[in-house]
Amino acid sequence: MSALVTEAPARTAGTTIREGAFGNAVALACRECGHRVELGPHYACPECFGPLEIAYEFPRVTREEIEAGPRNIWRYKALLPVPTDIEQSPNTEPGFTRLLRANNLATELGITNLWVKDDSTNPTNSFKDRVVACALSAAREFGSKVFACPSTGNLANAVAAAGARAGIKTVVFIPSNLEQPKQVNSAVFTDSLVAVNGNYDDVNKLASEIAGEEEGWAFVNVNVRPYYAEGSKTLGYEIAEQLGWRLPDQVVIPVASGSQLTKVHKAFQELIALGLVEDKPYRVYGAQAAGCSPVSVAYKAGVDAIRPVKPDTIAKSLAIGNPADGIYVLDICRQTGGAVEDVTDDEVRAGIVLLARTEGIFTETAGGTTVAVLKKLVDTGQLDPELETVVINTGHGLKTLDAVAGHVAPAATIDPSYAAFAATGLA
Ligand SMILES: *Cc1c(COP(=O)(O)O)cnc(C)c1O
Ligand SMILES: [Zn+2]
Repeated sequence: MSALVTEAPARTAGTTIREGAFGNAVALACRECGHRVELGPHYACPECFGPLEIAYEFPRVTREEIEAGPRNIWRYKALLPVPTDIEQSPNTEPGFTRLLRANNLATELGITNLWVKDDSTNPTNSFKDRVVACALSAAREFGSKVFACPSTGNLANAVAAAGARAGIKTVVFIPSNLEQPKQVNSAVFTDSLVAVNGNYDDVNKLASEIAGEEEGWAFVNVNVRPYYAEGSKTLGYEIAEQLGWRLPDQVVIPVASGSQLTKVHKAFQELIALGLVEDKPYRVYGAQAAGCSPVSVAYKAGVDAIRPVKPDTIAKSLAIGNPADGIYVLDICRQTGGAVEDVTDDEVRAGIVLLARTEGIFTETAGGTTVAVLKKLVDTGQLDPELETVVINTGHGLKTLDAVAGHVAPAATIDPSYAAFAATGLA
């Protein structure tokens, strides 16, 4: 586990947390030992160093109240660690993205009932806008003066954009070998993009060190991680609401740190507990690229411990070699009867093209990974093709053009004459 044991202050000395700053959240609770601490910029359990999670006391929440809310993640604000007046604070207002029926892809794969949850249409074109919106709210309440992150790319884009809109200084750290579009998509929003010579795990370590040194820095996925991570729950809420307040039978989710997958499961559990959906079994599947598949390797070996790896894959947004929530992903996928699977870079590319040509959705390498894993799960009999299935597309293909640029191209280059066109055989 990569959780750091040093507590880093994200709060400027002297600021007090205002009443109701975190909505219905009541405490931080350790995922390992259950120990509770007060809401604050903490992320590691003082007793056992396990990860802290938000604990709530939910009031009665109705479907009607949610449906009357804005068409973004704040419609679920009663279920998030944010204040009731959250809509008043400038943010990127992500969420309520399309849930698309994917009949062409379903036919291609031999599935009867398939949906794509398309998160590539968020403000900075990945699901990371959801988590960053929640982290920004927490940073504000803690009086943080800098909004920062280590990132595999998409998080940097989301942090830089949200910080710009909120008028808070941003500093974002990325591996220096990152895809150029992802670098530009951050640099356009901030003059403090820092490219680090190393992989994501090196960048993450550096960020934790800085968080320990600098007072008042909110690193979204380090010292405000418990608040950040809750944003991913909204993917689960939306899937259920958009299906008409029901849970799907199977859901396929990409795994980097594993946070998103654990939170979609948490969202489904909360909806059941609140009586907003009917209780029913569902299977959760995790998707990784073979070049960075520590969770899939552990799953297949039938072990509980995750052995960190050095990533080597075109799916850079999933390239976390030491996934903080990997062990919880294993638990959830095993308990629900799902699986964790991985695919080669060639399969990732094929997945991108398959989704594009069947559904008109251009996904990035993470989505290519997820679609390719879906195909592999069907082909190997691990996923039931008769059950209702949702696959999550977490990012946009324009950010990882290089992955497919050499594999798709004009069918012909011709002079502007009918004869030249006819000669191509495309008529
Ligand atoms: C970060 C990211 C993920 C995975 O997120 P985790 O919560 O760390 O597992 C998936 N897809 C894309 C496009 C991402 O940027
Ligand atoms: Zn603990």
